[in-house]
Amino acid sequence: MRTLTKMTPFRMIGNLYFVGTKEASSHLIDTGNGLILIDTGYEETAEVIVESMHTLGFDIKDVKYILHSHGHSDHTDGTATLLQFVPNAKTYLSLKDVKYIKGFTPDFDIRDGDVIKLGNTEIRCLFTPGHTEGTVSFFFDVSENGQTYRAAMFGGSGTKQLRKGFMNKRDVPYLCRGLFFDSIERLLGEKVDVMIGNHTWQNHTLEKYEKMATAETNPFIDPLEWASYLQEVRQKLWDVILQDSRERFVTYAHRGASHYCPENTFMSFYMGVRMGANGIETDVQRTKDGVLVLFHDDTLERVTGEAGKVADYTYAELRAFAVKKGNLWDKIPTFEDFLAHFADRDITFAIELKVDDTEKDVADMIFQYGVEKKTVVTSFDLERIRKIKAYAPLLRVGYLTKNIDGAVIKELIEIGADEICPPGYEVTPQKVDVWHRIGFNVRAWKISDETVMKQVYDAHADGMTVNFPDLLLRYIAEVNET
Ligand SMILES: [Zn+2]
Repeated sequence: MRTLTKMTPFRMIGNLYFVGTKEASSHLIDTGNGLILIDTGYEETAEVIVESMHTLGFDIKDVKYILHSHGHSDHTDGTATLLQFVPNAKTYLSLKDVKYIKGFTPDFDIRDGDVIKLGNTEIRCLFTPGHTEGTVSFFFDVSENGQTYRAAMFGGSGTKQLRKGFMNKRDVPYLCRGLFFDSIERLLGEKVDVMIGNHTWQNHTLEKYEKMATAETNPFIDPLEWASYLQEVRQKLWDVILQDSRERFVTYAHRGASHYCPENTFMSFYMGVRMGANGIETDVQRTKDGVLVLFHDDTLERVTGEAGKVADYTYAELRAFAVKKGNLWDKIPTFEDFLAHFADRDITFAIELKVDDTEKDVADMIFQYGVEKKTVVTSFDLERIRKIKAYAPLLRVGYLTKNIDGAVIKELIEIGADEICPPGYEVTPQKVDVWHRIGFNVRAWKISDETVMKQVYDAHADGMTVNFPDLLLRYIAEVNET
């Protein structure tokens, strides 16, 4: 059982009343022709709301509309219980958030610009996604002492739900961060005299309530609060993004076989992990007999003595070449061995698709080993990314490219790509800022010296692929220090 802190219900301003708990706010509007309830709190809040209304002289049976700012349980779980008291009340929620709710089916989908009218009240709804995919903000007028004030609630201002760990768990797209920034900009364009919070700490409900008895003017009237709160929240999201990219800064030990450990791909992966890199990047190719292998282009030449395509050999042929050359071929596993070996480690896999028509096989294996949450499939070929995302929408995909212009960005958004992988020298704080706003993870490659490495790190990219072990070691030492 959740402990909720009951509050004395009270009239905030005009026909607006507070009937919620300290943990989750609920507001009541007396329209003169029925009541509107905004947010129903946790399941246990329903009882508090009924009681609070009673204390204020209202009857739950007079509630005509129940509005929900977003779908999270702390704003919607009370609804099913309340509907038992007042089964004819109409419920409103953006259907984009319907996956979060339980116990009722919304009667109305809230759309951007909707105006909900009842009695003397008109509530204008603005679609302000970010905190959730379907967060809605409410605007309406309240009157007191002959003056009319504009009241508003930002429907979802919490930023800790936009941490990547949280988003991954709930399958919330990273794009929500970008949407959140857009929503803030939009809300900053609104003039608001009375800020309403859907949690009491947002608009300091308790402190203002305490001031009410002695204050000359109603403490809920504060024309400066709205903008300063929005700016504060925007900064909080930046902090979350920054913290995320620091904490989860992914250094990928490069596939490396061709660069620093030609004989032993497997050991180079192992070394990368041992050195403290928290990611592994590898190439996946398919042989003539359909076996997926980890293979870098250069390695093929070393093994067979000639340039060509892995897909022209069977796995047994490649193995025979390698053994003849004295390479430690038995240590080079198939892609399947690789996933199985590293599946239980806390590392990120970056898998580069090198050839067509491996998309489905690769995706299937990733899901088979349950490493889909920590895997990003990348390619220089946009069509391969498109294919794999179409086949496995939950899989994260990244685009390796030297040319990122507006058209590419548009295409990546349309595909639903998760990561942009530019060469390190292309990475600037301004670009990372823009890409983060759109919701992309940024991981740089082609890092061959410390200047570029530092540039990438300072630009707050999310990760980098480092090809050289000594460089990687120096970097890890530096990051651990700061
Ligand atoms: Zn929420």
